[in-house]
Formats: sequence, C-alpha cells, structure tokens
Amino acid sequence: MPKHSPSHLDPRSPLVLDTRELPRRPGALRTVKRVAPAPADLGVELISVPEGADLDLDLRLESVSEGVLVSGTVSGPVRGECGRCLREINTSMAVTIQELYAYENSTTDATTEEDEVGRMQGDLIDLEPALRDAVVLTLPTNPRCREDCPGLCPECGVHWDELPADHSHQQIDPRWAGLSQLTRKEE
Ligand SMILES: [Zn+2]
Ligand SMILES: [Zn+2]
Repeated sequence: MPKHSPSHLDPRSPLVLDTRELPRRPGALRTVKRVAPAPADLGVELISVPEGADLDLDLRLESVSEGVLVSGTVSGPVRGECGRCLREINTSMAVTIQELYAYENSTTDATTEEDEVGRMQGDLIDLEPALRDAVVLTLPTNPRCREDCPGLCPECGVHWDELPADHSHQQIDPRWAGLSQLTRKEE
C-alpha cells in the first residue's frame, strides 16, 4: 500500500511543480521562476495573502538520491488588520521554502512518515502544503499596523493617535456635570 494520498495532481496547476525535465541524477538542477495566483485562505486569522494575488515563486529544484529537494523563496502581498486598532495592514512577505520530496516507491518513501518528508506523485510535486506551512510560520498571529501601535481607547474606541495626550474618561466634563445636577433635581 503506498503511503501517499491517491489524490491526482494537475500538472497545469500553478503550485504544482513538474520535474519531468529534471534528470533523476543527484546534483541535477532546475530553476522555477513563475507567478502563481494565491490559493484561498493562505495565512492566519488576522493577516493573509489575498486570494488570487500574485505569488512570486523563485525556486531551485535539485535531484538528490531519493527525490527532489525544493528550496527558494515565495513572496507576495499580505493584507490584514492590526490586532490593536483594527486599521488595515497592507504589506508583503517572503517565505523560505526548503523541502525534500521523496520519489514514489523509494526507500525514503517506504521508511518515513508522511509528515517528515514530502512525497512526489509521479513527476509532480504539490508545493501548496509546504507553502502554507511556511506562510503560517512567517505571518504574525497578532499583527500590528506599526511596531508601537498604541491601540484604541477602551472607553470610546478612538485611536490614541487621534486623541489629545490628556484624554481621559475619569473626570466628568463640566458641561455634563451641570446636566447631571439637573437630572438630580427632577428626581
Ligand atoms: Zn494599529
Ligand atoms: Zn476615550
């Protein structure tokens, strides 16, 4: 029983790497530079790569004795929300990929677990799982619009940047103080 899942990869899919032109001789190299649309939900809750955005793949495929080593970077735009003030964040990220994909029926394929080493499906490599792992590790779980974002006033919800330095809800505004006396008289 082969360990790899029986799902069939589409060689035309932009995140599937086709190694047919890479000789299965250790040391053989091929580079892959392409732009691929980002798949859905690439990221974490507060920040992610917008679906369909351009991902720049700059990868090196190297034949090793038991498979193909894929290394390089994938970069693209990220969009999210500041965890403190909810302002929009528009930035970019670059993740490093380094993953070994074992040939089907190789010793590595037979002796390692699915989560230790990637698996090739014939001549094809599905880059998406490794890319997702790398992106999740790279993106902050608590993103900030800037390093020292002061966040929002918990009382009125206004950004501290837009409030005067002495902003406070502690003392009653003199105008409202008069009003509260009025209410007391009615009682
Ligand atoms: Zn912020
Ligand atoms: Zn306030």
